[in-house]
Amino acid sequence: MTQQATPQAAAAAPQLSEFELSPELSQFRDQVRDYTEKHLGNAAAYDAEVKFPRDAVEAAAKLGLLRTTVAREYGGSAMGNLASCIMLEEINSVCVSTGVTISVHNSLVNSLLGKWCNEAQKKRWFPKMVTGEWLGAYCLSEAYSGSDAAALRCEAKLEGDHYVMNGAKLWITTGSEADLFVVFARTGPDRVKGISAFVVEKSWPGVGVGKKERKLGLRGSPTTEIVLENVKVPADCLIAEEGQGFTIALDTLDGGRLGIASQALGIARAAIDLIRDHLAARVDAKGRPNASQRDQWTLADLAADLDAYRFLTWRAAILRDNHVRCSTEAAMAKLSASRLANRAARAAVSILGIAGASGATTAERLLRDARITEIYEGATDIQRLVIARGLMA
Ligand SMILES: Cc1cc2nc3c(=O)[nH]c(=O)nc-3n(C[C@H](O)[C@H](O)[C@H](O)COP(=O)(O)OP(=O)(O)OC[C@H]3O[C@@H](n4cnc5c(N)ncnc54)[C@H](O)[C@@H]3O)c2cc1C
Repeated sequence: MTQQATPQAAAAAPQLSEFELSPELSQFRDQVRDYTEKHLGNAAAYDAEVKFPRDAVEAAAKLGLLRTTVAREYGGSAMGNLASCIMLEEINSVCVSTGVTISVHNSLVNSLLGKWCNEAQKKRWFPKMVTGEWLGAYCLSEAYSGSDAAALRCEAKLEGDHYVMNGAKLWITTGSEADLFVVFARTGPDRVKGISAFVVEKSWPGVGVGKKERKLGLRGSPTTEIVLENVKVPADCLIAEEGQGFTIALDTLDGGRLGIASQALGIARAAIDLIRDHLAARVDAKGRPNASQRDQWTLADLAADLDAYRFLTWRAAILRDNHVRCSTEAAMAKLSASRLANRAARAAVSILGIAGASGATTAERLLRDARITEIYEGATDIQRLVIARGLMA
């Protein structure tokens, strides 16, 4: 007979997880804040000079921030997705170019290698990836394949003990700086089952960095074309099995979207802080706050949403850390946080007036940086489709 749950039994069991971070995660967040204060002072210069934040990324590597999603046996810290989200919110609240570099390296590349590669492959690539000696890039998009990832045309033909790869990947974050590319290529005619994933090293003949994109925001993060011309990819660089590429790409994007949701939370938080400081400084002759009620409402709404969407993001991260599929939850987090980042940055520019629009504060940079969070790793309308399909399934 099934035992009925009694009110007493329910009361005895914890009803919800605690809302406080564990002491370890709290301490980790403090360490990351310390890193942002010491090493991200040049964020405005990286943007203005369109300069890769090499110093900041190297400092992050020294602190172990490029190995949070790697198991200890391969030199990682195994801190997982929740810790990565906490870290990425902090970093992105100061410098999105550093933030996206670390997000792609950890959430898209290292976590993919850890989950899908075999033992020999992990032993081959992780030593360089966990120390930051090598940076990773994730090469899915092409000229005719963005939201519709299965339309990709880059092909890999098996010839004896290697594949011959030809194609061009577009809009690749860290493209010019990365040494290891995860490349999705067509190995068969089936639209979805004909896609496979490979590791391609930058030093191999035929691998080239093409056009560098000029962008609205994230200007310190190099986004480039990756050209693959008759590249001989050893067969042992195939990840998992032929035909599993699309599954690997989508599964990895669930984790990546948590990184971008955290990036958006960081941008939103920075914008809200600007608004708060600006309004708090507006006082009447007697020193009493005199910010308009409308601006106070805006501040309140944004701050309430920031806390709500942080919990949405952390919920998905905890699910993923527990190996529970979280496509719907990750899409909800990215959808909400990226919209909030745009709303908060727009409000900051409006409320700060000339100081907001002129570059005298970080508001205009936040507005430019926020835009991309609604485009990459699945545009806003695609997140809505993922959520709706998840709900209907
Ligand atoms: C700065 C930056 C960095 C990037 N980094 C990487 C990277 O490292 N690796 C990588 O592989 N890619 C990367 N990308 C590419 C990115 O993932 C794509 O831009 C994104 O998937 C959208 O594809 P698209 O630009 O081709 O837009 P499209 O797919 O053409 O979409 C355009 C618009 O149409 C809407 N739309 C499309 N299809 C549908 C549909 N079926 N239903 C409803 N609406 C739809 C979309 O929501 C969007 O608003 C990056 C892009 C940028 C801008």
